[in-house]
Amino acid sequence: MNAITIIGSGMAGITLAREFRKLDPSTPLRIITADDGGFYAKPMLSNAFALRKSPAQLVTQTATQLAEQYQLEIMTHTRVLHIDSARKIIQTDAGEVTYSKCVLATGAQAIRLNIAGDGAQEIMAINHLDDYRQFRLRIEQLTKVKTQIHIAIIGAGLIGCEFADDLARAGFHIDLIDPNQAPLAALLAPRAATELHDALQRAGVTFHAGCTTTSVTRTSAGHASRLQISLSNGKLINADLVLSAVGLRPDLHLAHTLTPTALQTDRGICINVYGETSAQDIYALGDNAQYARADGVHQLLPYIAPIMAAAKAIAHNLQGAPRPIQFTPTPIIVKTPSYPVATLAPPPGITGNWEYTFTTQGDSTQLCARFFDLQNHIQGFTLAPHQASSRAALLAEMSD
Ligand SMILES: Cc1cc2nc3c(=O)[nH]c(=O)nc-3n(C[C@H](O)[C@H](O)[C@H](O)COP(=O)(O)OP(=O)(O)OC[C@H]3O[C@@H](n4cnc5c(N)ncnc54)[C@H](O)[C@@H]3O)c2cc1C
Repeated sequence: MNAITIIGSGMAGITLAREFRKLDPSTPLRIITADDGGFYAKPMLSNAFALRKSPAQLVTQTATQLAEQYQLEIMTHTRVLHIDSARKIIQTDAGEVTYSKCVLATGAQAIRLNIAGDGAQEIMAINHLDDYRQFRLRIEQLTKVKTQIHIAIIGAGLIGCEFADDLARAGFHIDLIDPNQAPLAALLAPRAATELHDALQRAGVTFHAGCTTTSVTRTSAGHASRLQISLSNGKLINADLVLSAVGLRPDLHLAHTLTPTALQTDRGICINVYGETSAQDIYALGDNAQYARADGVHQLLPYIAPIMAAAKAIAHNLQGAPRPIQFTPTPIIVKTPSYPVATLAPPPGITGNWEYTFTTQGDSTQLCARFFDLQNHIQGFTLAPHQASSRAALLAEMSD
């Protein structure tokens, strides 16, 4: 059957299937996925303790329920090995299928740093529900033998900070390691990054600024085996578990091996404003895609809002009614309850200055930082604590 075939059942694959079914209830639609195809909101992984959710409770729809609701064929636990775009054949580890149009929604992979030491293999990274299941299992095992669990997190970006806060508030002792002087330095106004640092510290996080991890070695303390982390500033940290949160790299495997001609890639799979790749009838969206901006520059946008925008447009394009992807500036809501902050970082390479205002209401003071470029246009902001009304006002200010 020449079905429209989506590879991947993450937010990108499933959202596209939903959007397509809103427009077209009957054209055959298939999802092929390497995992079990259950739907979960990935952002919830980094605040599952706060939400009191187990990994199983994060799944809101199973593959069978999705297949029934959206009239899909879902091939679960099936890995796509190769695509032949001339013959429109997808080769999987469970055999071949043909497609009419194909969408790559294969996401990204956690970056693995080259860290020395016999404990480096034990470093965990979380980019999928299965990774999180393993992580929670390890924590469960540790809680059976220890009262105080010590977790070191490498990388204080969005995911590292969210996990640090969630785990510290759940009672674990956290060390957070980053080459920058403050957490989330790339996304927040500097003053807000300092306040986030202080809030994380109050929650029980020890921040190791301006350093990298050079090695992770196994040690043993009493009966329990532990890991010792050496930092570039000469410091040593002991931990029961090490989590790496140093970023993601788009999965380009299928793009590179596609025949007769590999897809055009840069850091991600290059797509145009319609979500089309360089091969006919092959589209891409989500963490593996590098989106074309209006000015022709391609950029990675590994967030939910761009997936929603791309899924809406690609659903129309699959139907033969072309519609460009329309991105709207969307702030990132950082899920750190110790310091709830929303931020829209200025575009890379823009020169300018942060300007701050503080509003006090009762006991709390709200920080509002606006980033102005040299022409005095607002290009980004940070708001803490964030409120939907103030966020909307800032977005309106930006669009003026
Ligand atoms: C902990 C965490 C917190 C986050 N929080 C936020 C947030 O607060 N806000 C926000 O906007 N974004 C957040 N993000 C980012 C956001 O979740 C991602 O951008 C989004 O989920 C990516 O979805 P995706 O479908 O592109 O990729 P994935 O979810 O990685 O899905 C990829 C799919 O492809 C399948 N696959 C891969 N290769 C193959 C193959 N060869 N054959 C078959 N199937 C294959 C996989 O099995 C999987 O189903 C967070 C990310 C993480 C990890």
